[in-house]
Amino acid sequence: METRGRMTIDAQGDALVLAGAIDEAAALHEMTGRAAAGRLTLDLAGVTFINSLGVRDWIRMQAAAQKAGIAVELRRVAEPLVHQLNMIIATRGNATVASFFAPYACDACGREESLLIDAIQNAAALSRLEPPPMTCPECGAQMAFNDFPERYFSFLAV
Ligand SMILES: [Zn+2]
Repeated sequence: METRGRMTIDAQGDALVLAGAIDEAAALHEMTGRAAAGRLTLDLAGVTFINSLGVRDWIRMQAAAQKAGIAVELRRVAEPLVHQLNMIIATRGNATVASFFAPYACDACGREESLLIDAIQNAAALSRLEPPPMTCPECGAQMAFNDFPERYFSFLAV
C-alpha cells in the first residue's frame, strides 16, 4: 500500500485500487506510468472526495492515456466521482466504465444505500435512463433510484 497525500494506492489483481481523498498530492496524471500492456484499470469504490486540483490531474491523466493509446477502465466508481464525471465532460476522456455506485432508497423501511450497478450488463437499460431494479438489503422490498436518471447517468453517454 502506498500513500499519496490523502489517497492510497493498492495493486489488487489487474487493478489499482484508489481510496480516500484525491487532491494535487495524489498526482493522478502520473498514473498512466503504471499501465500494463496498454491498459490502466482503476478501482474507485473507496474514493470519498476529489477537489478541483484533483479533477485537474484526473483530466491530465485521461489526456495522457489517450495520447499514449492506453485503455482506461473505471471500476466501481464511487458517487463523488460520478458527480464529477457528470459535471465536467473532460473528466470522462475515453475511459470505459465497467461499474459504478448509485443512490437508492427504500420506501418501505427508509433505508438509503449506495448500490453497485454493472454498466456493461445493464448498458441497454441505462441508455434508456432506466435504473436497474434493486432489492432492499434490509426488508427485501424493491428500492427506488434516489436521483434523476437523466442527470446521474449522463456520464455514460459518451
Ligand atoms: Zn427496505
